[in-house]
Amino acid sequence: MLRINELKLPLDHAEADLRQALLARLGIAGADLLGFSVFKRSYDARKRSAIVLIYAIDAEVRDQAGVLARLQHDAHILPAPDTSYTFVAGGEQLQGHDRNERPVVIGTGPCGLFAALILAQMGLRPLILERGKVVRERTVDTFGFWRKRELNPESNVQYGEGGAGTFSDGKLYSQIKDPKHYGRKVLTEFVKAGAPDEIMYVSKPHIGTFRLVKMVEQMRENIIALGGEYRFESKVSDIEVEGEGDARQIRGVTLASGEHIPTRHVVLAIGHSARDTFEMLYERGVYIEAKPFSVGFRVEHPQSLIDACRFGPNAGNKILGAADYKLVHHAANGRSVYSFCMCPGGTVVAAASEPGRVVTNGMSQYSRNERNANSAIVVGITPADYPGHPLAGIALQRQLEEGAFALGGGTYDAPGQLMGDFVKGRASTAFGSVVPSFKPAVHLTDLATALPDYAIVAMREAFPAFDKQIRGYYQEDAVLTGVETRTSSPIRIKRRDDNLQSLNTRGLFPAGEGAGYAGGILSAAVDGIKVAEAVALSMAA
Ligand code: FAD
Repeated sequence: MLRINELKLPLDHAEADLRQALLARLGIAGADLLGFSVFKRSYDARKRSAIVLIYAIDAEVRDQAGVLARLQHDAHILPAPDTSYTFVAGGEQLQGHDRNERPVVIGTGPCGLFAALILAQMGLRPLILERGKVVRERTVDTFGFWRKRELNPESNVQYGEGGAGTFSDGKLYSQIKDPKHYGRKVLTEFVKAGAPDEIMYVSKPHIGTFRLVKMVEQMRENIIALGGEYRFESKVSDIEVEGEGDARQIRGVTLASGEHIPTRHVVLAIGHSARDTFEMLYERGVYIEAKPFSVGFRVEHPQSLIDACRFGPNAGNKILGAADYKLVHHAANGRSVYSFCMCPGGTVVAAASEPGRVVTNGMSQYSRNERNANSAIVVGITPADYPGHPLAGIALQRQLEEGAFALGGGTYDAPGQLMGDFVKGRASTAFGSVVPSFKPAVHLTDLATALPDYAIVAMREAFPAFDKQIRGYYQEDAVLTGVETRTSSPIRIKRRDDNLQSLNTRGLFPAGEGAGYAGGILSAAVDGIKVAEAVALSMAA
């Protein structure tokens, strides 16, 4: 199989043009092309009136060696790498092996799901513990909070089957290094579970909320069929550790019900919002350190503005879909302000998991056809901003979320402000043309006290500066809502590079976003695969 990269065609090309372009590029006759498929498709929209599609194609040709020899100077034509997934040696040895001990996976977000799936595929019958509810019941609770302001602290946007990304835009790309093509395994399993085939080849795939719900259910069925077992509404409230110093070894976990489950292998895939669990782990002596994260607001613009700016006359083209954006501004006070988790054609959602606190995030459906584009605009902060204790970042998050709750009127409405008013430092009193999507509602106010001063100063500078990157971005009546505090984990539960076990607690495998080893659905899922392999190798040893 050959991989042909950088094959460029105009946006509106006919289907047959791709084959013709491929034949021309390879310099072969039609009869010598045995078959081909699209490996990746991206676009170059720098020239808006002449947007170009860029393909990477996998092609089967009659004389591969001859073609490669003839085109050896073309760096874009190479033998296609093998991207299929192979189980680690330890896992194969253990396949079908009936052991008394089962690995425990805590959390059913993308990290826990993929750890459990790989363990189950290796025949290791994982026990999966999830504090929240099964996804359908969780959906009722989450939408109930948005409509009725009734927060269930154990069943919400952060907690429950599918994890934090279930009610999301379902963006499935990441910038992690992935030499073993684990991302491909993730996408392949997602397609098996019901994701659209196109996620395998579009450069920035997304799934949207409702499909994610169905996929999570299908993956559960697959894991159970392979011998895995799920327990919902089963919060891990304690861990049992034996030994001291280098000999510390996990012996089991205790549920909030008091039930004790003995095990020597625990995947800790608890996400970035399990603050009570972080506190418990810290008290039990598990090594934790503070790490940088970001804080800011969600901003909403008309999607049509972003489409027109990015795609010009091609706005609305079906292949391009709703346009996204990525922005960065380095402020004079040394802070970086950047866009994060941009959701084209989506809605801003209430993402709190603790009573009396307000947090925003974004989601969309697969169609991305809501009126507004939303994105977090955040400022990077580091442990120097919250010194003194490994969990101090959590205290800062809580303080900002409580402040947002109060600024929003104490009813779970999000505090909001028009962009122009925010930059000019005056409270907003009425919405303009942009109708915010956040439910239950946005309470207009002055956001100047919602974040630390350095962040407010940097953001006031950034919005007008962003207008140079996207004309019209500094829109007086674009709406800001606050606060974004859960951009990534404020801690790292550090692990050893060689065996992925906790730095000071053997058998404990910190994983995914909460442990500080992933940011986003795809990278969390990839980390789940890595950790499952490490568990299998440890069990085989
Ligand atoms: P999580 O998904 O957070 O899963 C952790 C799980 O552990 C939860 O189900 C939780 O209930 C459970 N748990 C926690 N503590 C315990 C305990 N003590 N006992 C038992 N169970 C426990 N990322 C993207 O890449 N693309 C997007 O479009 C995107 N949109 C998002 C939209 C929203 C609204 C949110 C909230 C997040 C979004 N993200 C997105 C981020 C993404 O969801 C996370 O990066 C990802 O889910 C992290 O995966 P994880 O498995 O590490 O943790």
